[in-house]
Amino acid sequence: MIYFDAAATTPVRPEVLAALAPLYTSDFGNPSSTHSAGETAARALDYARRTAADVLGVRPGDIVFTSGGTEADNLAIKGLALASPQGRHIVSSAVEHPAVLESLAYLQRFHGFRITLVPVDGTGRVDAAAVEAALTHDTTLCTIMTANNEVGTLQPVAEIAAACRARGIPFHTDAVQAAGWLPVSVTGTGIDAMSISGHKLGAPKGCGLLYVRGVLPLEPLLHGGGQERGRRSGTENVAGAVAMATALKLADQERQAAAPRAAKLRDYLIETVLDSVPGALLTGHRTDRLPGHASFCFPGTSGESVLLEAERAGVLCSSGSACAAGSDEPSAVLTAMGMDRETAQTAVRLSFPPSVRESEVALAARALSGAVERVRRLAGPAGTRS
Ligand code: PLP
Repeated sequence: MIYFDAAATTPVRPEVLAALAPLYTSDFGNPSSTHSAGETAARALDYARRTAADVLGVRPGDIVFTSGGTEADNLAIKGLALASPQGRHIVSSAVEHPAVLESLAYLQRFHGFRITLVPVDGTGRVDAAAVEAALTHDTTLCTIMTANNEVGTLQPVAEIAAACRARGIPFHTDAVQAAGWLPVSVTGTGIDAMSISGHKLGAPKGCGLLYVRGVLPLEPLLHGGGQERGRRSGTENVAGAVAMATALKLADQERQAAAPRAAKLRDYLIETVLDSVPGALLTGHRTDRLPGHASFCFPGTSGESVLLEAERAGVLCSSGSACAAGSDEPSAVLTAMGMDRETAQTAVRLSFPPSVRESEVALAARALSGAVERVRRLAGPAGTRS
């Protein structure tokens, strides 16, 4: 069985496992304890913070370790909006992850914020000029993801961040899908806050981080013992922080070689599927997309049936987003891109890690083509239309 669902989660890398294991056994102290076991844990946490800060090009004190991408998004959006001395308006996009959209909905429902969701084009991309045009004197935050989880499309965050910085509006980006592939250094970018999740890049589930520029006031979500400089109370997940930082550093060291290699394999995968499956549609941008990400719609099928057939053929993939799996509703991302509901129900996403082998990509392409053909055959003549 080959695993082609890296956008949902990835296995823990051996180097990461080796780095975190002692923190569960010999070096298990609480970093707040004043004895030597506590000091050892505090040193490990400090190492993790400095390592992550180095990759992002920021000050260690500007890193808040969290339980993952969802918490980082919640903390960035609610924390920055609620702490802002003025402004009651937030700009975002129609294709953000639910961790962002639901945080925005919460601020609208319970705190009276106005939310503008800028639409996207047929490739899932927001227009930087449209985002800029949506900013008003009352805008307190702008949040646009770096790369989309369902269709892999990259957003013009550098341009948007620069426009926000010029107006003094804090800019946050959800870089959860991007961090394993793209440079995440914020130096000189105008990015004020960035969310990253460990389990998308070879660390365990349940660890992540939020970078937030130190001068910005941030209202904490968790109140308690004042850890993480009062921005996130709770005994620190030292092993998670070390795992997160180790995985991020490895990804950063490897990306220069890994990303172009993966992009070539992705292009091969996309071309093979488009050539071999009649009527197949690529979703997302053809080139400005995550290197390890290919997503399609196959009219005349149901996405779920294709996934089952692909699994029978030895390939694990997904319909687009692990959170929405099993839901009867078509993807909000695909409908925001202008796709009709029926076609959107036929979505399939193949996503692979940098360590993928060429033979696995070839197998995945064959398995997917075969799966679509079988599903259409079983559906009868109506299903063969494309
Ligand atoms: N943001 C994006 C773009 C994601 O793809 C995900 C997870 O799929 C998240 C946020 C949530 O991250 P986590 O699973 O670490 O909570």
